Amino acid sequence: MSRVSVKELMEHALAHKYAVGYFESWNLESTLAVVRAAENVKSPVIIGVCGTYIGEPKRRYKESLTVYQAMLSQIAKEAEVPVALLLNESDDEEMVIRAAESGFDMVMYAPVFADEEIPLEELTKIQKRIAQKAHQYGAAAEGEVGELPLYHSAAGKLHDGEDTDPEVCAAFVKETGIDTVAVSVGNCHLKEDGMVTINFEALKKLAERIDIPLVLHGGTSIARADLGKAAALGVAKVNFGTGMKRAVLDTLKQYMAEHDVDRMNPNDVLGRGTDKDLLVLEQEAVIRYVEETIRAMNGENKAF
Ligand SMILES: [Zn+2]
Repeated sequence: MSRVSVKELMEHALAHKYAVGYFESWNLESTLAVVRAAENVKSPVIIGVCGTYIGEPKRRYKESLTVYQAMLSQIAKEAEVPVALLLNESDDEEMVIRAAESGFDMVMYAPVFADEEIPLEELTKIQKRIAQKAHQYGAAAEGEVGELPLYHSAAGKLHDGEDTDPEVCAAFVKETGIDTVAVSVGNCHLKEDGMVTINFEALKKLAERIDIPLVLHGGTSIARADLGKAAALGVAKVNFGTGMKRAVLDTLKQYMAEHDVDRMNPNDVLGRGTDKDLLVLEQEAVIRYVEETIRAMNGENKAF
């Protein structure tokens, strides 16, 4: 079993009371690490990249969406567990549609980091167009209603969000035809302490009212114990990214503190793949993180 649709994965997760993790990678090694972790704990997994970062206008080197798609789909094909591909959170409608066309299983339009909020009416129109196009290409579409708080690490400041209203969400889902919806119930983007308070009452109400699978973004902000609880209440997918990168940075810092790289063979540090290879240690940091998170979401041994 390797490549499956996101829809199939989420339905399986709901039926078996676990949440499937979307672990956002940024290069070959981090993607391989996610899949290795999922294989180690025998769990389905969603892999993918962030549309906002790939399309970042200030990016020094332009990235090719189709290169990422090819890399992700080949890795999925060779995986020993069910894997689906997501282009997450792009604020560029054209890019989202191209992603669906190029073979991502699910795409998400979300102007998460935009300075100005798009009015709901406008957002509904955009999302409806995208869902229609995505479906034509056989891809699913994820939408978002409400806004997650956003944490600015450098300033240590929190930008307020807005909780998801069940009625507004139900109307948005019906009007747009999206396949899954991300909700705001206390979860926070870019926050790393795993200490947010999830409003389980609100989540329960949403799960009862909304008839498509629910998603929580900002998985790094959520306590491990709460992940399992959210899964039991009907959350089908949780998104992670920030925590994986922190795990890699911690490894890098420790490596530089413990090794005198000036006196090492650069081939041992990068690319040989043996136990002093920094890329290997970085992958192992991601693997540990992903394994622990999958277990917290009750995803272990759920591969089908
Ligand atoms: Zn997100």
